[in-house]
Amino acid sequence: MKFIDEAIISVSSGHGGSGCVSFRREKYIPLGGPDGGNGGDGGDIIFKADPGKRTLHYFKTRRSFAAQNGAPGKGRQQTGKNGQDTIVPIPPGTIITDAETGQVIADMVVANESFTFLKGGRGGKGNKHFTTSTNRSPKFAQPGEPGQSARVKLELKLLADVGIIGLPNAGKSTLLSVISAARPAIRDYPFTTLSPNLGMVQIRDSEPFAVADIPGLIEGAHAGTGLGIQFLKHIERTRCLVHLIDAAAIDIDDPLRGYRTINNELAMYGKHLLEKPQVVVLNKMDITGAAELADLFVEAAGLQTCFRISAAARKGIEDLKKHLFTIVSTHHEPDPTDLSE
Ligand code: GDP
Ligand code: MG
Repeated sequence: MKFIDEAIISVSSGHGGSGCVSFRREKYIPLGGPDGGNGGDGGDIIFKADPGKRTLHYFKTRRSFAAQNGAPGKGRQQTGKNGQDTIVPIPPGTIITDAETGQVIADMVVANESFTFLKGGRGGKGNKHFTTSTNRSPKFAQPGEPGQSARVKLELKLLADVGIIGLPNAGKSTLLSVISAARPAIRDYPFTTLSPNLGMVQIRDSEPFAVADIPGLIEGAHAGTGLGIQFLKHIERTRCLVHLIDAAAIDIDDPLRGYRTINNELAMYGKHLLEKPQVVVLNKMDITGAAELADLFVEAAGLQTCFRISAAARKGIEDLKKHLFTIVSTHHEPDPTDLSE
């Protein structure tokens, strides 16, 4: 499942502080020796893979980052303060390239790993440093080294945080379309043919999360029936699943049977899919009779909690969103090192 989020940002490290020209002044010593201190070093630009970030959303509003300059040296051999580093948090899995040349700078795979990209300029030496036997009172000091700037491109392959599973016709595509916002920053790789649909869901200004419609799950999908097997592997990397059920189904795919069929496919596929947090959602509650069927289902399935929505009528969607956000924010499950698909 390949979707790309990208952002271009400018970064600059801090300038070094200049060295100081100063001479000791003490009572009874008219002209003391040189005592100008060194300038502080400029701060670095450091990228850090922050597992709390899942998208490049943060960079939609913040496009430039500068580290602090070093402070100049002072008399009495006082070194200027080093400038503070600026840490730029990026989601694990982000690839950093030079925006001009396209050259890869770093591939930030491991959560919490940091990468110092631009060193700050070194602070200049104060005149004290230049004292020699032939020049006991140098009247010069070094300027600080300048910092560096760059424009970099951040690219992230998005993984679905939430997978919507359920039998065909449960309303998965409909739910995805009503739960997710427009997705201008995400483009599908042109060569994916069977890519399930992915949408971004956001609650006000919080970090968005990605929801995928996982189609094709039917009885026998784990063994290759239909196209389900193509999508089952995507479920492995999600943090949680929405198990969507057509509450009004009365044929052989009645809610309970459908629910068991899908869970059985997950179990047969293995890989602990059945152990993922699963949010059971009964859909099509707008249809007459669905409420009674839903009650029967909840009792027969022995479920503690179960959401009831109408995707088509957009009922119950906000509560579901909030619940998913809570789960997604507390499960850092998918392994960002495995981005091959
Ligand atoms: P998918 O196969 O799981 O992706 O299901 P779709 O989203 O394509 O929906 C299957 C059918 O159910 C479509 O005709 C939808 O319009 C309809 N549908 C989806 N959600 C609802 C709902 O909440 N109420 C009703 N009455 N119909 C719905
Ligand atoms: Mg569909």
